[in-house]
Amino acid sequence: MDAWPIGVFASVDAGLGVAWDVISELKLPTIQLHAPHEQKRNQQAAETFRSQLDKMDVQCTAVFGGFEGESYADIPTVVKTVGLVPEATRAGRLSEMLEIANFTKWLGCDTVALHLGFIPHDSAVDGYADIVKVTQQLCDHCGEQDQYLHLETGQETAEGLLEFIEQVGRKNLKINFDPANMILYGTGEPIEALKKVGHHVRSVHCKDGTWSDQPGETWGAEVPLGKGDVGMETYLTTLKEIGYQGPLTIEREIPQDPERQRAEIGQAIDLLTELRSRILS
Ligand code: MG
Repeated sequence: MDAWPIGVFASVDAGLGVAWDVISELKLPTIQLHAPHEQKRNQQAAETFRSQLDKMDVQCTAVFGGFEGESYADIPTVVKTVGLVPEATRAGRLSEMLEIANFTKWLGCDTVALHLGFIPHDSAVDGYADIVKVTQQLCDHCGEQDQYLHLETGQETAEGLLEFIEQVGRKNLKINFDPANMILYGTGEPIEALKKVGHHVRSVHCKDGTWSDQPGETWGAEVPLGKGDVGMETYLTTLKEIGYQGPLTIEREIPQDPERQRAEIGQAIDLLTELRSRILS
């Protein structure tokens, strides 16, 4: 595959991606997929999805895990509910992630990804070692089937993420870099962050956002690609500098308005196509 195939974040029945029937209309070579609900995570369903994607000539480049009970209502709620960090749901969610890794394998895809949750900024605090351990367990399961695990960025600083990856110490642990999340969560200037963590980046989101007036306390706003504070030209130039060649996966998290989502993704495809031809030529 040529460098920077454009893709879109898609959903079967869960998550914020474009609906399954929209994939073929967009005529893109790649998708990332939000893992479907439990009833559809079996081998037979995975093989059905796989043959549908083959017919559309679309490659699934990553499957994202997500869980019942997660809420992105505001930043304190994310801390309490998202990913493998909240202790009460950790064991159950780990076994779900192992199932999702198996589903991903049946789909013919080598990359599992997730929002791990708010990793404490200080590696010396109580509970940090347990978050490292659960991540090692998940990495090792993925490693046994030649898969990578990608952590979605946003909920920690570049330095915090580097420290965490070092502590986990698994070669198949990589980053899905989302520049807008750094802005939405107020965790740092995304281009600077990308330069720092670039050697671990194996997939990316193309998403845009504007800063909150109280970064880290309240959300910034997710906006159409090119309309926010990321700076798409600088973002792509920096991806070239770090040697990234993987897919450019567009994410637009407004599934409640599918018409607008589709239109804005169309504009994002045009923007990325134009920037790509200029920057890679
Ligand atoms: Mg993202």
